Amino acid sequence: MDKETEEDRKGDNSDEEKQNISPESSDIEDSGMERLRKFLTQKLRLIDSSDDQSDESQQGTLRELTLDGVIDYIKEHGNCKIITMAGAGISTSAGIPDFRSPSSGLYHKLDKYNLPHPQAIFELEFFMKNPEPFFTLARELLPEGFKPTISHYFIRLLWEKGLLLRHYTQNIDTLERVAGLPADKLVEAHGTFHTGRCLKCRAPYTLPWMKEKIIEGVIPKCEECEEGVVKPDIVFFGEMLPERFHLLAGRDFAQADLLIIMGSSLVVQPFASLVDRVRNNCPRLLINNEKVGMQDRLSRFLGLRQGLVFDSRSAHSGRDVAWLGDCDTGCQLLADKLGWGDELRALVQREHESLSAESGGEK
Ligand SMILES: [Zn+2]
Repeated sequence: MDKETEEDRKGDNSDEEKQNISPESSDIEDSGMERLRKFLTQKLRLIDSSDDQSDESQQGTLRELTLDGVIDYIKEHGNCKIITMAGAGISTSAGIPDFRSPSSGLYHKLDKYNLPHPQAIFELEFFMKNPEPFFTLARELLPEGFKPTISHYFIRLLWEKGLLLRHYTQNIDTLERVAGLPADKLVEAHGTFHTGRCLKCRAPYTLPWMKEKIIEGVIPKCEECEEGVVKPDIVFFGEMLPERFHLLAGRDFAQADLLIIMGSSLVVQPFASLVDRVRNNCPRLLINNEKVGMQDRLSRFLGLRQGLVFDSRSAHSGRDVAWLGDCDTGCQLLADKLGWGDELRALVQREHESLSAESGGEK
């Protein structure tokens, strides 16, 4: 194991290690960076003024690169503005199949349609010619009877505590809405099943309307123009992301004090590169089964700041933390450490009970 990986794995770097971070050659650059950091933090009040006497060697804004370091940071920031970013990992414990994965078994149901390739089902051109395979799959994916997870309710709790600047999701399952997150706090980057539109006359339709047709096994046809097929507002391959995504991402990320990324493999663009849009000293916490979204060697060599940097010796270190495990466990742990553990458990229980009652106590 090389030293880099070993340090990476330790996570809880001691102060001693931090002081040894910079090789002599970059000392001058570092002190310049440090002065700039101090200037910015004072001007922008990114750090509580009581932190000003913190030692010179402290490169990042976290005391330690652990979950506890992040917790301290949240507690010390009176009004921490948090952006959460989420992928399929926050919904897997709800039982939502990962439809992108050919191993999910969903694609077997489509064998009879002879798709040119599995992705064709999410291609607009193919959909316009043959919408049937999509609606067959949609029956399996319909947000019906799925309950939001601990992770979803943790995000809602962040909002209730006044700490959530915005939640960006790659998921189309609408579980954030079911969990009670208000629409204005939500950016559904890849669209949603929540609404739909006629492809011909653009007439809008609701989820309950589409759901009825889809469950009946009927292709939803527009009632206005009586010609167009109604397509749920999920983003197909080659389609533009919602305007709301570009508009709000442009504003939000520069303001964030903390970024929490959960259950995303950070490979789908432009969603993945959102992590680079926060300020240079904004801590980023990844809650995921494995480390993802790292800066690759080439961009590191070229000095580009792209991706997460869990290696504590790098120039932009001292702010990225990876907590490895499943999202629900990570979110519950965060809540526990913030002193909201029981509140989160009670919220999940109450909401799940009320959702069961709504669906007739079946699920
Ligand atoms: Zn129409």
